This record gives sequence, C-alpha cells and structure tokens, in this order.
Amino acid sequence: MGSRQVTSWQGMHITVAGLGVSGISAARALAGFGASVVVVDGGDSEALREKAAALESSLEGVRVRLGDGDTLPEGTELIVTSPGWKPTSPLFAAAAEAGVDVVGDVEIAWRLRGPDSAPWLGVTGTNGKTTTTQMLASILRAAGLRTAAVGNIGTPIIDIVLGDEPYDVLAVELSSYQLHWAPSLRAHSAAVLNLAPDHLDWHGSMEAYARDKGRIYEGNRVACVYNVADKATEDLVRDADVEEGCRAVGFTLGTPGPSQLGVVEGILVDRAFVENRQKNAQELAEVADVNPPAPHNIANALAAAALARAFGVPAAAVRDGLRAFRPDAHRIEHVADVAGVAYVDDSKATNTHAAEASLAAYESIVWIAGGLAKGATFDELVAKSAKRLRGVVLIGADRGLIREALARHAPEVPVVDLDRTDTGAMPAAVREARALARAGDTVLLAPACASMDMFVNYNKRGDAFAEAVRELASADG
Ligand code: ADP
Repeated sequence: MGSRQVTSWQGMHITVAGLGVSGISAARALAGFGASVVVVDGGDSEALREKAAALESSLEGVRVRLGDGDTLPEGTELIVTSPGWKPTSPLFAAAAEAGVDVVGDVEIAWRLRGPDSAPWLGVTGTNGKTTTTQMLASILRAAGLRTAAVGNIGTPIIDIVLGDEPYDVLAVELSSYQLHWAPSLRAHSAAVLNLAPDHLDWHGSMEAYARDKGRIYEGNRVACVYNVADKATEDLVRDADVEEGCRAVGFTLGTPGPSQLGVVEGILVDRAFVENRQKNAQELAEVADVNPPAPHNIANALAAAALARAFGVPAAAVRDGLRAFRPDAHRIEHVADVAGVAYVDDSKATNTHAAEASLAAYESIVWIAGGLAKGATFDELVAKSAKRLRGVVLIGADRGLIREALARHAPEVPVVDLDRTDTGAMPAAVREARALARAGDTVLLAPACASMDMFVNYNKRGDAFAEAVRELASADG
C-alpha cells in the first residue's frame, strides 16, 4: 500500500451506513488504516447486536450505533454507504447539508488500491451481470491469468483489493447502486449488457438509473462494450468521457460489422480485436460452447469475450473459458425431464426483462409465474411471449396483474390461477403445470417477479421448484 493512502485515512472520522457484509468489510478496512469509524444501522435486533459486539471487540477504532440510521454522527468527514441505502435516506440529506461526501464500498476499494492494483474489467446491465462476469473470469483463467469474479458477487471487493492474493486482472460485477456511489472508479474496459426499467424506486427515474449505469464507462482506457440491439447502451458510450484511444465495441447476435463481435453461422466471431477489421474476422468459439446456448446467454458470452479480447486474451482461451463455464444455480437450470417434458428453473428471472429472455429460449412453454411485481407491468412481456405459451400457472401476491395481461394479449392460453401465496404452493404449481404440458414442452419457472411474498429469496423459490419436480419424477418412475 502507498504511504499516501495510509496518511489520508489516519484519524479520519468515517461513518459507515449499514451493518451488513459490505459495511463490516469497509469498517474493518478503514479502521485498519487508522480511521475512526462509526457504523450506523436503523435496525436493533438481537442478531444485529451480536454482530455489533463482535465487530467492536475485534477492532479498535470501530463503534456501532444501532436503532438510528438517520442522524449524522458528530464530526463525520465521509460516509461509506451499503448498496441498499436509498439516496433519499435522511442520513444522506444530513450529510449534504453538512457538506460531507457519500461513497460506496467500490469507491473505497478503488481509492485504497484500485489504480495501483490489477486492472478492472467492469460488467453492468439490468440482467446477465453475474453470468457475464463469471464467464469473463472463466475466459481469463483459461488464458492463464490470475483473476477473480468480484464486486456484486462473492468476497467484498475491499477485501479482495487488500488481500494477499496477487491478481493480474479482476472481473468486476457492478450494480447500479455501486456505480452511483463510485465517482472516481476508472476501469480498463467495461460493458453495459442491456438497460430495462428496474430499481426505479431507488434511482428515482429511468434517466437517473441509466446515468448511474453509464458511469461504468467513465475513464475507460481500451474498450467500451455495448449491446448493438439496445441503443440505450450505445448512447451511454457516446456520453462517456473516456481516455484518448478508447474504442466503442458492439456485440450482436447478428453478423458483426467492423468493431463488433457477433455470430456467423453458429460461430462467435470477433471483428473488433483483429488486424484490418474492415476485411478480417477471428473465429472465437461455437454457439454450442455457450452454456446454456439460449440467445440472451450468447449475448452474455459475446460481451464477456469482448472484454477479454480488449485485455489481449487469445481466441482459443475464449473458447476454452466458455466451455469450462457453468452457470450459477437457478439461472435457466435444467432440473429434470419427466414424461418427455423438460423442467427448467429460472427463479433468478425476477423482472420482466429477464423473463422475456428466458421465454424466448423455448418453443412451447408451460410458464410458472408470479410473485412481487415491484411496480412492473406485464403487457409487453405477455404480448411478445404469447405464441410460445402452452399454458400458464400463476402464484404469488401480484399474480392478478399477469392474469389481466394474459386476458388482454393471450386470451386463448389456458391459465390456472392457484390463488396462493404460501410457501407450500410450489408442488401444487408444478402438478398443475404437468397437467397442462405435452411431450416436448418445457415447464419454465421464470416468475418475472421477486420472491419475497412467498419465499426467503429466489434461491429458496428455485429449490422448492426443483424439489417438487424431483417428487414428480420419482412418482413417475
Ligand atoms: P444479474 O446478475 O444481472 O441479476 P444473472 O446473470 O444472475 O444477472 O441472470 C439473471 C437472470 O436474468 C437470468 O436468470 C436470466 O433469466 C436473465 N438474463 C441473463 N442474461 C440476460 C440478458 N443478457 N438479457 C436478458 N436477460 C438475461
């Protein structure tokens, strides 16, 4: 670590907002650099008190204040916030009044080590971030580079940049919240995968959400990777202030133009990072190397490939990395085939944009949907997907919204409304889906909604689905 950084944190009064994983990581790191840290949290549960006691006793220079997340501790010079805190939180209003900056854990990681550590390849977007970041890490690893998929995934990023492990390059997933609070971050190269309305309650408007996503391009050195099919991502590149010589590189599921990556006759092709890109193209991998080879996931693979190529990775490593990649659970996960019907768990499709991609990947579907809509509307999703639907089974609190959209845009599709929001409803939903399905169909859990009305999280929802399918399979066999 440079001495400049050590002295700048020494004795500084820092307030950390939120006693969660990233808050604790920030508090530890900053106290380690000699700052005087107060962690504030509006909650005051038994579990929080235990965490607070453990943190205070393990480190000098850290105090925790529970039961008040709103008032600014006296003498605060900087606030480090956890991602979930809304910009409109009273604590930040108080900070603005007092002229105190608010930043997030990514900003701290960057200020502590970022410019001096391994280059960052950034990934953001409404959907596909985790998958793309992991694909990227897999490709970098296949090229023999020491790397990790970090940021919005896995080990807190502050711990990564301060850890002993030497990295050549980092694959960094960045949420719109993290980008909002990371003004000085400068990635080597970055990608915005897509932009659709999500988390608007947090950001206030679509414009503000897009602006925060667009920050990932600021100061890029080598490439700004955008989605040719999503003009909003290209607009963000145009608006970004980048280093001299940094290139805009598009990815497309169609034939790529110069400075693009795309698909030609089942082959992933690079026309950006080749000599004489007007004439030449480099074959990277086959569509069949992408796991699973659904259209939206091929787009993810192209974005990951573009970032890896921007870092100088050879074509063979793209292929090997994609082949080695296995998606995380509950992301278009094939659970079982029962009586000629495939059962697929995409519980992670928690918004309509994700569910649309998922539904586009199959020809004839019995769709299990519903949950918490988070203010979304379903007309576009249902209208676009209607022709693929064999039938629909609805669960969860906001299922009525989907039922109404189905009545408007797919009146001929049979719908079973389970009228249930209890955790035990999943086996019944799977049985209803089975009754609707014919051999060759796919029963797809892609709820287009958050899970918290019925389950602890989307993992538990997917687990419940998989368990119900396995019961079905054993009863069948
Ligand atoms: P994130 O980290 O952005 O939430 P994930 O990689 O975890 O994204 O994927 C979440 C869900 O989004 C997947 O289960 C799938 O339904 C959908 N999805 C993944 N990639 C894309 C994409 N490129 N476009 C649209 N939807 C996608």
